[in-house]
Amino acid sequence: MNELLMKNPEEMAGLTFPCSCGRTHSIDINGVRIGSGILSDIVKSLQSLPSGTVLFIADSTTYEVGGRKVESILSKDFALEKVIFSNTHLHPDEAAMEQLRAAINPNITAIVVVGSGTLNDLARYLSCETKIPYIVVCTAPSMDGYASMVSPLITKGVKVTYSAVYPYCIIADIAIMKEAPFHMLHAGFGDIVGKYSALAEWKLANIINDEYYCEITAALVEKAVRQCVSSAAGIMVRTPEAIRSIIEGLILSGMCIGMIGNSRPASGEEHRLSHTWEMLALMRGQETFLHGNQVGIATEIIIHVYEYLATVDINKVYADGKFRSLTREKWENNIKQLFGDIAPQIIELKAPDMNFDEIPREKAAQNIVQKWDTIKESVLPILPSTDSYHEMMETAGCHLTPRDLNLDRESFRLSLLTAKDIRQRFGLFQVLEDIGILDEVAEMITSIYYS
Ligand SMILES: [Zn+2]
Ligand SMILES: [Zn+2]
Repeated sequence: MNELLMKNPEEMAGLTFPCSCGRTHSIDINGVRIGSGILSDIVKSLQSLPSGTVLFIADSTTYEVGGRKVESILSKDFALEKVIFSNTHLHPDEAAMEQLRAAINPNITAIVVVGSGTLNDLARYLSCETKIPYIVVCTAPSMDGYASMVSPLITKGVKVTYSAVYPYCIIADIAIMKEAPFHMLHAGFGDIVGKYSALAEWKLANIINDEYYCEITAALVEKAVRQCVSSAAGIMVRTPEAIRSIIEGLILSGMCIGMIGNSRPASGEEHRLSHTWEMLALMRGQETFLHGNQVGIATEIIIHVYEYLATVDINKVYADGKFRSLTREKWENNIKQLFGDIAPQIIELKAPDMNFDEIPREKAAQNIVQKWDTIKESVLPILPSTDSYHEMMETAGCHLTPRDLNLDRESFRLSLLTAKDIRQRFGLFQVLEDIGILDEVAEMITSIYYS
């Protein structure tokens, strides 16, 4: 175990190992390169693939920050087919995918994408569809999707996560990423510190539902968080060490998702809140914020919730029995109020998992009550206090409140009630609903941020 925890992401690429959790984990990325001035490494990486045309993908911004250089390096040795998106607000949706599919021809043997977030998601999705390997040149340490094998795509307004593939190689040039706009550096940082909440929720699901849990993967994610937190002060002065900590943490986190086969180690209720807010902004035609900026804010909210849970008298909560009063009508109404036109899709997706009958609701509540002490002992220590979290986010220069995301009070409150419904996965807010205190906690949290 210690041996793996000593390795950096570059050394972890390509590893396969039997784990104490009973599974064999593998990290099917051929290569990871992190360093300053390493763009030319891309040639070596491409030479290990079958020769042919390279599909080069960028957008007008990433083309300027690194794409032009990559193009000039590649054009010496390879024939190029290019897609340079001009949209300033590119989204991972069907329209963008169509543009990429149109550029595919039988000579293309590799995809090189220069960019972060959306561009990387699109390239990964295309790589999955066409079975053509892709290499990503990171332009900003802004999200943990570089080494991830899942892609979120927006289909008919709803963000859905699809299984896709790992990149063949990740080229993370610190000299380029260092110059990324602050909100992107903050987004990467926010996505990493969000793992506090993701790890707590993984443990919670393990205790309550006996969900599969891997100590080593959890320790790796924790290491990524620790490294990142310790570099908080370097972000506003763009130290290469801080940039390296963030990108290493992001790549490591993505690898952990791949080791487990789903995003459980890296994504919990803080991510569902972020996805909820993003869907709302898209639906309302408002400015969208980067995923990690939202995750960083959501994580403080989640820590508030756990701090509240630490004070709850669980026997009294059970005796109050509010969990018995959930009706389908009440549940649907919250979703309809917040999501309007796209509510039916969300309801349809989630309804099969919902239980409105008294007996199973009683059982779910009893199970949580029985395990309450274990939850407090094992989950709460994973998290920092809200005060120290807040201070760290301030030091890093990050956004701190949902009001910064232009969320009005009622939308925010409803987002707390419905975030759990945009996915099937069991999580913290489900626990609150199962013991009948989701409404009261949502009200309490809302009054903290909108007093
Ligand atoms: Zn394991
Ligand atoms: Zn994330």
